[in-house]
Amino acid sequence: MGFFGKRNRGSGSSKLAANLRDEKQKFELIVNAIEDGVMLLDDQGVIQLFNPGAAKITGWSSDEATGLSATAVIKLVDTKNQPCEDSQNPLIQIFQTGQSIRVNDTILVTRSEKQLPIGLDISPLLSEDRQVTAAVVVFRDIADQRAEEQRRADFISTASHEMRTPVAAIEGYLALALNPKVTTIDNRARDYLEKAHSSTQHLGQLFQDLLTSAKAEDGRLSSHPVVVEMGAFLEQLSSDLKFAAEKKGLFTDFTVGSNSVINASHEAGGERVIRPLYFALVDAGRLREVVTNLYDNAVKYTPEGKVSMGLTGDAQVIQFYVRDTGPGIPPEDLPHLFQKFYRVDNSATRTIGGTGLGLFICRKIVELYSGRIWVESELGKGSSFFINFPRLSAQQAAEKQAAEVNSTELQPINSLASS
Ligand code: ADP
Repeated sequence: MGFFGKRNRGSGSSKLAANLRDEKQKFELIVNAIEDGVMLLDDQGVIQLFNPGAAKITGWSSDEATGLSATAVIKLVDTKNQPCEDSQNPLIQIFQTGQSIRVNDTILVTRSEKQLPIGLDISPLLSEDRQVTAAVVVFRDIADQRAEEQRRADFISTASHEMRTPVAAIEGYLALALNPKVTTIDNRARDYLEKAHSSTQHLGQLFQDLLTSAKAEDGRLSSHPVVVEMGAFLEQLSSDLKFAAEKKGLFTDFTVGSNSVINASHEAGGERVIRPLYFALVDAGRLREVVTNLYDNAVKYTPEGKVSMGLTGDAQVIQFYVRDTGPGIPPEDLPHLFQKFYRVDNSATRTIGGTGLGLFICRKIVELYSGRIWVESELGKGSSFFINFPRLSAQQAAEKQAAEVNSTELQPINSLASS
């Protein structure tokens, strides 16, 4: 019988009290009572401890699982039912990185081949020379939570879709009423109608954001990642976006590496400055939404000063930022900023319209391309929103671009074959 095979069933309070004095018994009582799956892995990734919670979730008994490799018992697949690659498998990665891992989007294939969404937390136990000597894995069945989230997302998605149509009609009629070629109205009526029109536009934006965030949550956001050279892409985008900032009297700036683009993309002192190329695998349309949102926020919340955009990186990572000299964000709000509907409660947000969904959508999109988004801010000085993406080498970019060309050339043949 395995370590946790014996259950402590209460056989009198005095026995329990005696048990509680025994460290090992205490430990067993706690680990047996935890409903989550708990495993202890040795430095080879072999299961040394498998509690009843783990047995219930996986369908493997403690005796069977103990002594086996964790990856043989905890079989993980992605949302497309593809086995988790070693480089993505947290049960393998923990021994390579030595960093705690938390995953919420993985699927466990149980012993009876049933697929179960699980949440997984893995913590390494490190020796003095920072080698991973063991790992503690805690996992839980999140099927009910997922089903509930799905029901909520479906409701929001249907409701916002249905409500967009009447809102668009109201907006259209208000625009007609405000059109001097169509109607004659006095100034007071114009003022009221303009206010109604702008609130209706806000409502339309809210429904649009709700729809996008519901799609982002259940993975229905359309996305076609291709190789994008971020320098050229962001330079173009910044020249499209800067008009809104300049209209408000703000200075603007765009920098690649440490050089201003104005110098980097032209002949400088007779010599051509060669700018590094930053390739990433992203959907340009989706990325445009993200950058536009960050830039719009920077303009919206900055009364005076400057909005800058920049791009840097190293061999592995591309980093870009949108920085402003606005009021900054209080430190206590920073951890919540990328949550749904979160808005900093201050006089600015009370007067400046917004839905609190923009940054949530940005995070969801950035995560689609294995990126990370975060903010650094100092009150009274301004805020910088950063995004990191994995960088493709020039060779990887060329290979992927060739594959993209091939797949588009093949498409008509495929569609002929299937028709
Ligand atoms: P909103 O529609 O309210 O702008 P977002 O999700 O885009 O929603 O932003 C969330 C909140 O973060 C905003 O309400 C605002 O309080 C704060 N915020 C975002 N960007 C900035 C910025 N550049 N400067 C100051 N505050 C910001």
